[in-house]
Amino acid sequence: MKNFFPPLTTLETLPTPCYLYDTALLEETLQAAQREAAQYHYEIHYAVKANFNHRILQQIAACGLGADCVSGGEMQAVLQAGFPAEKIVYAGVGKADEEIALALEKNIFCFNVESLAELKVIDELAGKRKKVAPVALRINPDIIVNTHRHIITGVKENKFGINLDLLDAVLKTLPELKNVAFKGLHFHIGSQITDMENFHSLCLRVNEIQERLSGMGLLPEHLNLGGGLGINYYAPEEERIAGFSAFFQLFATHLKRYGGQHIHFELGRSLVGQCGTLLTKVLYVKEGSVKKFAIADAGMTELIRPALYEAYHKIENISSGGAVEKYDVVGPVCESTDSFGKDVPLNKVSRNDLLLICSAGAYGESMSSHYNCRQLREPYFYGK
Ligand SMILES: *Cc1c(COP(=O)(O)O)cnc(C)c1O
Repeated sequence: MKNFFPPLTTLETLPTPCYLYDTALLEETLQAAQREAAQYHYEIHYAVKANFNHRILQQIAACGLGADCVSGGEMQAVLQAGFPAEKIVYAGVGKADEEIALALEKNIFCFNVESLAELKVIDELAGKRKKVAPVALRINPDIIVNTHRHIITGVKENKFGINLDLLDAVLKTLPELKNVAFKGLHFHIGSQITDMENFHSLCLRVNEIQERLSGMGLLPEHLNLGGGLGINYYAPEEERIAGFSAFFQLFATHLKRYGGQHIHFELGRSLVGQCGTLLTKVLYVKEGSVKKFAIADAGMTELIRPALYEAYHKIENISSGGAVEKYDVVGPVCESTDSFGKDVPLNKVSRNDLLLICSAGAYGESMSSHYNCRQLREPYFYGK
């Protein structure tokens, strides 16, 4: 991995723990995604929750993508970074009144609505402002995907979206709500999905639903298929850019598009995951009675994915060329789950060695916290 990073002498001057962002790789990734999507006139909205660092947002906005927001705060952040309001979609099961008001005031592209209760509130708030809110119904397609159970979103038991068996009732109510305009259908089946069969199942389900709606004379102007395309955490050096080509091609092949329907996607992880790395310094090497621990100055407060979803991140020791040994790489936080990996093979580790925790650009910095009064350092940008 070393040759993807600035020289060790540069990294040694950085206060740790800090995120490193490769803006050249980000640019290459964004261009690849845009190029592949453009072949089919698909539109991409960047799922802001993956990483809302201002410079990253600015770069993504400059590349012409839209934004997928899940809160008023995210809408403010993307507007400040230069995303046009007419490219913002706003999703989330718990939209607060003031957040809905902000979206109405800014005239965003679309609300992705998750329940009848929410639809009624949006109708009421839009009516008060003499506006008509564009809405897409988020449908829970009841598709089980092969990913960690904590990041599946599209099965009946999840809190997300409108269940298929309740869809007819919502559609019947729609004409009574004069201040919302039905524009689209929205789906999102989960995250870190690498098995394209899962997206194939989604296409088939969407086709079924569209057929039903077309029988009712209710074809939406747009479909939003969400995000979820996974990245290679195991060998990031071999797959720097996610498989956008196969992903979009699959939808082009299997998704039935009626007339001039617009097709939207919301990609997060696949756009920013590989461009970010967590740089951390080893504070101590602790020899336990059965294990060796490399105790790093970064912890779950900087990167919570291993603790939260048992996620794997590749780790490298860039300061050492010593013989490979196995270490549990742990952080300083007072929680047993504050660990980045067990029995991680690393070149012999000594105090002050620098470790790279790879593929941390998505759900890394954006999920960091101040637990234990910890303070993340400023990120370091390189590459462009
Ligand atoms: C999180 C999320 C996304 C992005 O998911 P990725 O796996 O990062 O691509 C897209 N749409 C919705 C509704 C989401 O909640």
